[in-house]
Amino acid sequence: MFQLPLHSDRRYPPENRCIYCGYEDALTDEHIVPLGLGGRWLLPKASCRPCAAITATFEGVVLRAMLGPLRMYYSMPSRRKKQRPEKLPLKVKLTPDADFSFIEVAQEIYPFLILFPNLAMPDELTGNVTEGERGAKVKARSHPGRLRGLRLSSSGL
Ligand SMILES: [Zn+2]
Repeated sequence: MFQLPLHSDRRYPPENRCIYCGYEDALTDEHIVPLGLGGRWLLPKASCRPCAAITATFEGVVLRAMLGPLRMYYSMPSRRKKQRPEKLPLKVKLTPDADFSFIEVAQEIYPFLILFPNLAMPDELTGNVTEGERGAKVKARSHPGRLRGLRLSSSGL
């Protein structure tokens, strides 16, 4: 199976303040890209515990609910890899007049579509900080190999 390349470990100098709220005590390390997406770049002492709890909750939802099938397909890192299911529930309509139902599908063939922002490197990391010109550049990408064999209809997948 194809494996996404993992980038190498990199540890930046400690921030010594929460990058979200500015608090300076009891700081935790922050992954620049979440570990669950293969992120190995670390910003030490960069998040206070309340902000870390908020980002962990948000990342948990995104990594499991939104990106779970993608992460399983590419065997991306997980703190709970042994808990990954072999099959996932797929909501289907077997005939046009039937009600929706769920079938279990092996995670290797589970169809999914990911819309994921492709952001440019933050100005603070490139050194190109220009006051008043901050913003995000976003472009969409798809993974066409995962859509092969699927038919799209006006009612969705
Ligand atoms: Zn904070």
